[in-house]
Amino acid sequence: MISLWRSAVAASCPDELALRAYSSRLLGGDPSLVLHGGGNTSIKLGENGATVVYVKGTGSDLAQVEASSFTPLRLDGVTQVLVRPDMDNAAMMQALDACLARRPAPRPSIETLMHGGLPFRCVEHTHADAVLAAMNVDDIERVHAEVYGERAPLVPYHHSGHALACACMNAFNSHRRTRNTIGLILAFHGLVAFGDDVRSSYENMIELVTRAEDYLRARGAWDVFETAHAASPAASQSLAAMHDEINTVAGAPLVMQIGSDPQCLAFARRDDLADIAQQGPATPQHAVYTRRVPLMGRDVQTYAARYREYLDASLGKAASRLMDAAPRIVLDPDAGVIAFGTTAREATMALEMYQHDIAIITRASAHGRYRAAPAAAIALAEFEYGGYAAKQKINSK
Ligand SMILES: [Zn+2]
Repeated sequence: MISLWRSAVAASCPDELALRAYSSRLLGGDPSLVLHGGGNTSIKLGENGATVVYVKGTGSDLAQVEASSFTPLRLDGVTQVLVRPDMDNAAMMQALDACLARRPAPRPSIETLMHGGLPFRCVEHTHADAVLAAMNVDDIERVHAEVYGERAPLVPYHHSGHALACACMNAFNSHRRTRNTIGLILAFHGLVAFGDDVRSSYENMIELVTRAEDYLRARGAWDVFETAHAASPAASQSLAAMHDEINTVAGAPLVMQIGSDPQCLAFARRDDLADIAQQGPATPQHAVYTRRVPLMGRDVQTYAARYREYLDASLGKAASRLMDAAPRIVLDPDAGVIAFGTTAREATMALEMYQHDIAIITRASAHGRYRAAPAAAIALAEFEYGGYAAKQKINSK
């Protein structure tokens, strides 16, 4: 991966926050790094004798981020929230609201504490496909030691928010960090890079992604995409009955999008699909649109019953009841990948995210056994980031 930094563009930025927004757009503009609202960046600036940490707020896309998209928070307040023991994310968000340096401001990112805690001026967080393809395997520790070691210590999987920020600080403060450390690898989630100025922080992210690309290439796990025959012309016509059944389970009409490019078809025809497609998404954020696992075949009712069991077991019945159990991705050997969403945009996002998961799973399976975050952790991400409760209320009005 090459740096897209342009000195002339950087020099035209009126201040450091604008420069921070510029390099954030460089990350956000590459779908192999972040998709649809994923990832975030920050900068710490001195203001009136105090330090304010500007973290990209919730609701904006890194690809279009501007200076006004960053939430300004008093760093001393943020670090006080970070050291509080065992905090749930609802309490964390309430405490962070009290740290706002001024209002109005975008709602703080769920990853604010991680940005505030790491002692560098700039911090970047992405879900880079290459890093997930290299690391999302059952022997992640061995691969991590080979690719990163002390350059970017490994942080075991934790749910985003207070728990992940604490785990990052533990890894950063442990003996695994040295003066050579430029980031952290977040197991089954993504990575973090940091630096003391905007350019070096951005380019540290590029270095960490490049290491993963080089590892995959060296193991013949980069150019691995097979081509498949074209989709069967009858395939899309036979989907109507399944679409009706999915609408019934979802309790609302869903929009359908079909991905029948050679990569989708080749994946949907793999012999080992029952194993590799049932592990979970490459990063938990994808599950908000793709669900944890796809439906394979046409048996919507059995899928829904099993998905309900998984939601009940992971979240408890009260939270589970706020979500439907309909699939959002169907794998079909004749049609390819069939994606569903409550709107055309959501169906397109689900398809795009699953296409990235296909690339990641295919590459990971070429050098190891693909693995994802634990099922219960994915359920929590679906529930917490998805805003399903809010959507249900809106839909029922
Ligand atoms: Zn993330």
